[in-house]
Amino acid sequence: MHCASCAQIITKKISSLPHVNETRVNYGSEKATIDFDESHTGVHIFNNEIQKLGYSLLEEDNTHDHTKQNSDNELAELEKKTHFMLPVTVVIFLLMMWDIFSKLFPQIPNLPIPMRLFNTLSMIVATVALFWVGKQYIEGVTRFIRFRVANMDTLIGIGTIVAYVYSTLITLLPQIGTLLRVPEYTYFDVTIVVIGFITLGKYLEARSKKKTGDAIEKLLGLQAKMALVIRNGKEVEIKIEEVIHDDLVIVKPGTKIPVDGVLVEGSSYVDESMITGEPIPVNKNSGDVVVAGTLNTTGVFTFKTTKIGSETMLSQIIDMVEEAQGSKAPIEALADKISGIFVPTVLLISTLTLVVWLTLGTQYLGLTQALSLGLLSFVSVLVIACPCALGLATPTAIIVGVGKGAKNGILIKDAATLEHLHKVDTIVVDKTGTLTRGKPELISIKNISDKTDAELISIIASLENKSEHPIAHAIVTHAKEKNIQLASIETFEAIKGKGVKGIVKGIEYFVGNVTLIQDLKISLDIPSFTKDTLEGKTPVIIATKDKVLGVVMVADAIKEEAIEAIKNLHALGIKVVMLTGDNKNTAEYIAKQVGIDEVVAEVLPEDKLNKIKSLQKAGMVVAMAGDGVNDAPALAQADVGIAMGTGTDVAIESAGITLLHGDISKLVKAVRLSKITMRGIKQNLFWAFIYNIVGIPLAAGILYPAFGLLLNPIFAGFAMAMSSVSVVSNSLRIKAMKI
Ligand code: ADP
Ligand code: MG
Repeated sequence: MHCASCAQIITKKISSLPHVNETRVNYGSEKATIDFDESHTGVHIFNNEIQKLGYSLLEEDNTHDHTKQNSDNELAELEKKTHFMLPVTVVIFLLMMWDIFSKLFPQIPNLPIPMRLFNTLSMIVATVALFWVGKQYIEGVTRFIRFRVANMDTLIGIGTIVAYVYSTLITLLPQIGTLLRVPEYTYFDVTIVVIGFITLGKYLEARSKKKTGDAIEKLLGLQAKMALVIRNGKEVEIKIEEVIHDDLVIVKPGTKIPVDGVLVEGSSYVDESMITGEPIPVNKNSGDVVVAGTLNTTGVFTFKTTKIGSETMLSQIIDMVEEAQGSKAPIEALADKISGIFVPTVLLISTLTLVVWLTLGTQYLGLTQALSLGLLSFVSVLVIACPCALGLATPTAIIVGVGKGAKNGILIKDAATLEHLHKVDTIVVDKTGTLTRGKPELISIKNISDKTDAELISIIASLENKSEHPIAHAIVTHAKEKNIQLASIETFEAIKGKGVKGIVKGIEYFVGNVTLIQDLKISLDIPSFTKDTLEGKTPVIIATKDKVLGVVMVADAIKEEAIEAIKNLHALGIKVVMLTGDNKNTAEYIAKQVGIDEVVAEVLPEDKLNKIKSLQKAGMVVAMAGDGVNDAPALAQADVGIAMGTGTDVAIESAGITLLHGDISKLVKAVRLSKITMRGIKQNLFWAFIYNIVGIPLAAGILYPAFGLLLNPIFAGFAMAMSSVSVVSNSLRIKAMKI
C-alpha cells in the first residue's frame, strides 16, 4: 500500500465481495482483518480481486517475516531510486531557481544553455524519472482508467504525466507550440522534481516507519533458539520447537530462558526487565514461575516446562502488541472518512481549477498564459493534495505508543483503549495487591474458644488452603511455618467478598469478615478489635453457626511506591478512589497512608460494578485497576480496565491494559503514555490537514488574481513529501519521550 486511500480501496473492494461481513485495513501496520464465511469464500478469492488493483494479501503464517522482507525490499528499491533522483532533482531544481530569478532580477544573467538543448536533456531525464522511478504512478493512472479506482499514485501520476506529455509535444513537435502560440517553455522539471521529492519523502518515510515498528522485532529477538533439556537422564541441547510440556530444562548462568515453566531445582536471580520493565533481577526459587525470553544471571536451575510455542507469555505479548498496533483508534475514523473521499474530490477540484483557468483566465490573460498557468495549477493541486500524511498520522503514533508500552511492561490491548485512557479523570483501585503488597501476614490471634491456638489455626488454615484469596495464603503460610498440621475437610465453599465456609471433622465453620459473621446472626464483639482495624489490620473471624471462636489479625504492608504514584496521578488531574471488600477502618487507614481521595469499603464484588456505573453516571471517565480475576465485571464496566499482574504470571487478555509486575507506578506511566500518544496523534492530524487545507487553494491559484502568487508544482511536491516525513518523525519522537 502506498497511502491511506489504498487502505480505503482494499476495504471497499473486499467488503463488496459476497460472504464477507467486515473488513478492516490498516495502512500503518499494513494489515487486513477480514471477517468472512469460510465455507463460501477465501483468501485466494480476495487476493485475485485486489491483485487486479495492484495489491496482494499474505496470509497470517509468517506474515511477520514476509512483511519485514517486503518492507526491506521496498526500502532497498527506494534507496536505489533516491540515489538516482536526488542529484538530478537538485540540479534541475537549481537551474529552475536560476531561471525564475533571472526573470525577476535583470542583473542575473539568463541560463547559459540553449533552450533546445536544455529541453532535450530534460526530456531524457524526465523519461527515466517517470517510467522507471515513477512507474507506480503510471500504474496508478492505468488502474484508474481500467477499474475506476484512484489513490494517491493516481493523483501524482496524472499530474506528472500531463506535465510530461505536454512538454514532450512542445519539444518534439514545435509546430503545436506555434499553433497554440505558447512559449517554448516545458514542464519536464515538474515531472522530475515532483517525482524526485516524493521519492525522497517516501524513502525517508519508509526508513522512519521501519523504526516505529521495531518493538516487535526486539520482542521477537528475545526468543531463545535452543534449549538444554534432560532426555533419558542426559543433558541434550535441542531446538526450542522440540521442547514439550513437562520437559526438564536446565538454565546455565547468563543464558536465556527458552520456554515458560516452574522452577524445580536450584535458584537464581533472573533479569525480567525485558518483559516487565523492572530493572532489578528477581530471585527465583523452587515453585516460582520463569518465563521465556528473560535472562538468567549467575545461578543454575532446572525448571519444568509448562508453556511452549505460542502459549508462552512472550508469544502472547508479541501477538497482543502486534494486534494492538494494527488496531484502529476511534480518532482515526475521521481521517479514514476524509481519505476515502479525498482522491475523487481532489480530481474534481483539479479539473475545476483547470476549467476556471481556461475560461475565466483566458478572458483576462489570454489563452496562452491561462493555459500554461492553468496547467501548473492543475498539476500542483494534484500533487499537494495527496492524503498520504493523513493516513500515517494515527497509525504511526499508535505503533510507537503501543511498542513503548510493551517495553515498559504496559500491555495495551488496542488503540481504542489507549485513546480512552487519556480522557480518564477517575481511577478506581483495589486495595489488596494494588496499594498494599498483596502478601498479608498473620499478626496476632485472639482465641476465645476451648481449643488451643494451634488447633484453631489448623481449622482455619485447612479451609483457607482451598481459597485463592491473599488472606488465605497468609494464614496457610503461617500454619506451615509453625508446622501446624492441616486437617482434611469434608465440604468447602467460598463466599464471595466475605470469606469461606466448610465442614471439618463433622463441624461446620465459617471463616471471614464481619459481614459473614453478622449474616449468621450470632453475637460478635466488634469493639474488641476496633483498635487493630484502625491501624490497618484486617480481622479474620472464625465461628461455628452458634458462636464466635476467635479472631485472627492479618496485615498487609503498604507499597512504598503507591504514595508517590497517587501523588503523580493527582498531578495529572486524576481522582483516585479505593474500592475494597475489606473492613472500613482498615481501608481508611490505608487510604490515609497513601493519600487516596475517596474510600468505598465493605463492598461485595457485584457492588464494585455498581460503584463504577454510578461514577460513570456522574459524568466521570473511569479506569479501574484490579487484580483482574475477581474484579472482572468491574474491569469490564470501566471505560478502561487495567489488570495489575502480580509477577509475570497473568492472563493478559483479561483487561484493556495489563501492567506486568503489578506496580502502581506503572499506572502513572500508562496514563502518561496515552496522553503523549494522543497529543502526538493530534499534532500529526493537524500537520497532515494543514498542508492540504492551505496547500490546495494556494495550488489552485486563489491568490493569483490579487497577488499574482501561484504555488509551483515543484514546491507542492516538496511540501507533500515533507508532510509525510514530518508526521512520521513526530510519531518517532514519542519513542524518546520520558513517561
Ligand atoms: P478485596 O480484594 O478488596 O480484599 P474481596 O471481595 O476479595 O475484596 O474480599 C472482601 C473481604 O472478604 C476481604 O477483605 C476479607 O475480609 C473477606 N474475605 C474474602 N475472602 C476471604 C478468605 N478466603 N478468608 C478470609 N476472609 C476473606
Ligand atoms: Mg481482591
